[in-house]
Amino acid sequence: MSHDPHCIFCKIVAGQIPSKKVYEDEELLAFHDIRPHAPIHFLIIPKLHVPSLWEVGPEHQALLGRMLTLAPRLAQEQGAGNGFKTLINTGADGGQEVYHLHVHILGGPRPWRTG
Ligand code: 5GP
Ligand code: ZN
Repeated sequence: MSHDPHCIFCKIVAGQIPSKKVYEDEELLAFHDIRPHAPIHFLIIPKLHVPSLWEVGPEHQALLGRMLTLAPRLAQEQGAGNGFKTLINTGADGGQEVYHLHVHILGGPRPWRTG
């Protein structure tokens, strides 16, 4: 399924739910997390609905590479030039709440903690 009408991040991609966008191209979207865990906290997602890392296959390698390649550039642009944390939660025990693949980018002056 490339788009799940019940998925909150697909709704953000479609513009049905507003978001504070950081970056957008044909394949990827980045936007600020609604409940930030750090002074800088945004998410990079594929526009394609991939629920989690469990569903990732060889056909997604380029997409995953692009997501991570984009991370340092956007982190720098958002003011996390002193360093940042990348986080992908997968499945229930991984603490995943939204089942549309996303990379958390966290940064800004410490102290801050991620749960
Ligand atoms: P997860 O635990 O699935 O890795 O994290 C999901 C993240 O999505 C959480 O940090 C949560 O604050 C964020 N989030 C959930 N719903 C929305 C939303 O409607 N808009 C935005 N911008 N972030 C959301
Ligand atoms: Zn989705």
